[in-house]
Amino acid sequence: MSEIAENLSLILGKIRDACLRSGREPNAVELIAVSKTFPAQSVREAFEAGQLVFGESKIQEAEPKIAALPGSLHWHFIGRVQRNKVRKILQDFEVIHAIDSLRLASYTNEIAGELGLFPRVFLQVNIGGESSKGGFDPAVLRAEMEELLTLGRLEILGLMCIPPAGADAESARPWFVALRELRDALELEFSFKLPALSMGMSGDYEVAIEEGATHVRVGSAIFGKRSYRVDGELG
Ligand SMILES: *Cc1c(COP(=O)(O)O)cnc(C)c1O
Repeated sequence: MSEIAENLSLILGKIRDACLRSGREPNAVELIAVSKTFPAQSVREAFEAGQLVFGESKIQEAEPKIAALPGSLHWHFIGRVQRNKVRKILQDFEVIHAIDSLRLASYTNEIAGELGLFPRVFLQVNIGGESSKGGFDPAVLRAEMEELLTLGRLEILGLMCIPPAGADAESARPWFVALRELRDALELEFSFKLPALSMGMSGDYEVAIEEGATHVRVGSAIFGKRSYRVDGELG
């Protein structure tokens, strides 16, 4: 077995255990293999081990990889979305995880209309209120939710967050709880289902699952240590 295949099998086992521990169905969580900075060959190894869903955060880096790999792979865009890249992102990716403003949401809705698409999206929440991170401030999201729900082309799956860096996995737990509680409050207030929570990365995906994650974005635990950073936000 390749190292990537071994890592995947280990992680899928841990995901299953975390689901069972927290009384959830073992298939309730989707693993997104974050392949940013890793070559197409690494993605191919993961694919050959059975992984079908991958995450990338830069369109320039992702396009050649997507083109080089089988069309049966599913690609999620997890990075910060630049306005001038929206059209390409919609063409290459099935799900966008980081819609972080009403303005970007409206624009994405408009371009999706032009392309005849109904993209699935997550609304990113800046749950720790960090100036270095993107995402809706929770109060702003509440104020703008009504208008977001009128954007008929966007299938809003739920909320996404990248919690503040902490000393260990447990330090992320309160942020995951906060995102889930915000989701629960929005569902009540707007009578609208937000079933998905995209939260948890290599260091804390088990904790995220215990707190309700439906999508975990795991890179280095599958592919190994990244040797360079891809953007200002997360390497
Ligand atoms: C890079 C990245 C991940 C994966 O991080 P790892 O620590 O390698 O698992 C998850 N989410 C986002 C938004 C990222 O940019």
